Amino acid sequence: MYWSNYHSHSIFCDGRGSMEDFVRFAIAKGVLKYGFSSHAPLPFLTKWTMLKDDFIDYEQEFERLKAKYENYIQLYLGLEVDYIYGCSDVQTPFFLDKSLDYLIGSVHYLDKMFNGDYWTIDGDFTTFDWGLKSLYGGDMRLAIERYFEISSLMINHGGFDIVGHVDKIAMNSSNYPDFNPADSWYENLVGETLQLIKDKGMILEINTKSLHEKGITYPDSRFFPLINELNIPIVVSSDCHFPTNVIDGFTPTYKLLKAVGFKTMFQQIAGRWEAVEFNEKGLFC
Ligand SMILES: [Zn+2]
Ligand SMILES: [Zn+2]
Repeated sequence: MYWSNYHSHSIFCDGRGSMEDFVRFAIAKGVLKYGFSSHAPLPFLTKWTMLKDDFIDYEQEFERLKAKYENYIQLYLGLEVDYIYGCSDVQTPFFLDKSLDYLIGSVHYLDKMFNGDYWTIDGDFTTFDWGLKSLYGGDMRLAIERYFEISSLMINHGGFDIVGHVDKIAMNSSNYPDFNPADSWYENLVGETLQLIKDKGMILEINTKSLHEKGITYPDSRFFPLINELNIPIVVSSDCHFPTNVIDGFTPTYKLLKAVGFKTMFQQIAGRWEAVEFNEKGLFC
């Protein structure tokens, strides 16, 4: 039995450890397949994305580690690429020129605020609240509808393998008493997005980053039965920013997925994504 993780960060973006630190922890925790997915460079500077000029070092360090640890772990090179409407997506020369094992498409930013910065839904609550009020007059439903509209544009645009943390906006919206993920309008929005992922043949990530701290996965476990019913290919990843978190939340998530009826999840095997059986202790060879 083994674990896999395809969503991880390191000091090349906002992760708190070298790529080698993550590899050593992954090996120690029983991970056999491990992918790096640094936040890809954006057209503007941020504190948490890789610099374009660092990509060569990222690739070289990956090749060094892949060779050094080849008897212990299978390493993959990817990127987590932002989709920002009218500003950033995977189908630009920078990404098209690279030979990467896979790409994750994620939405962290919505619209531009009056100060010229894009509003991030994945930052601290103060920033979230400020953007919600200044862009959407505090109308949570409007902001959430916009989030899923942009997510759908990203999925339709394509060019990547895995949809990252599909309902991440719930991390901050859950702090408002009037947000209820059981409301039919919200369930319908998530349901339509999941259907689109299925139609486009993409892989859906089950992201366990916040399970320990906030008790939620992205997507929320309330959608697991629907994902299973739609037969959407899944991967479970921890989106780790600290080496100690490489398999955080995996045991309860695998267990729950199994209980809901999932039989397989997808893995990189000889350059392709293939279905592999699992139980709460991990994946079968
Ligand atoms: Zn992300
Ligand atoms: Zn991430």
